[in-house]
Amino acid sequence: MLLEGKVAVVTGGTRGIGRAVVEKYLEHGAKVVLWGSREETVNKAVSELKSQNSSWEVSGMYPDLTDAKAVEDAVLAVKEQYGSIDILVNNAGISHSTPLYNYTAEDFDKILKLNVSALFYAILPTAKIMKEQGGGVIINTSSMVSISGQTSGVGYPTSKFAVNGMTISLARELAKDNIRVNAVAPGVTKTDMVAALPEAMIQAISATIPLGRPGEPEDVANAFLYLASEMASYVTGEILSVDGACRV
Ligand code: NAD
Repeated sequence: MLLEGKVAVVTGGTRGIGRAVVEKYLEHGAKVVLWGSREETVNKAVSELKSQNSSWEVSGMYPDLTDAKAVEDAVLAVKEQYGSIDILVNNAGISHSTPLYNYTAEDFDKILKLNVSALFYAILPTAKIMKEQGGGVIINTSSMVSISGQTSGVGYPTSKFAVNGMTISLARELAKDNIRVNAVAPGVTKTDMVAALPEAMIQAISATIPLGRPGEPEDVANAFLYLASEMASYVTGEILSVDGACRV
């Protein structure tokens, strides 16, 4: 048990990578508050997890991540209910592969708002709580496209480059408060987000993965477990690639 008694918030925790992180943290003794976009999917995820293991301490919330006040209120409600927030995983995100000439300003603003601004909205009140309690861990979800860019859908890689910048900068700023800030950069991982990409794009990417397969959500969740645990006590400001050495 690497996270015994820790309190974790995981955004986008209802499915995909976030859901795998929630399960991994619960298996390792954390109390987890999973956040999702809709009441129905959040309640379904929580009840499925409780039926998987009735001793797991898991609950759910569905604040609008693009509303700074709603996010702050949700963070304060977690602190009120659990007494602390030890781990914040900013995982919710959206992707578009729209070519530039079909892109709109609204598309661009929407992706930046959820993939970048929402992280800031969650980190600000949480970091204040972590500072007061003597430390904590923040882990953001980046992407392999934060290293290589991508050939279509400019808003998504732009957002993930920004996630890396936020991660590295806050790691340096918050180290004095014993708050570690890292990111995990998944490669092609078998979730709904990948299923939504054009088939030709999935095949082209899969063919270039040196380890010969796409990642499973659990491959990525293992990195989130390591970074949240004391095993990573001297690791901060790191963008940890979990991508089978894919560099497209
Ligand atoms: P997914 O689509 O399966 O899950 C996305 C999660 O984000 C869901 O829980 C959803 O409820 C939540 N979400 C989406 N829009 C939201 C909104 N407006 N408000 C609140 N929550 C919202 O995707 P995934 O593949 O598990 O992606 C999770 C993270 O991993 C994302 O940040 C994504 O950019 C990143 N990522 C995924 C891959 C991949 O290949 N799957 C690769 C690199 C990075």
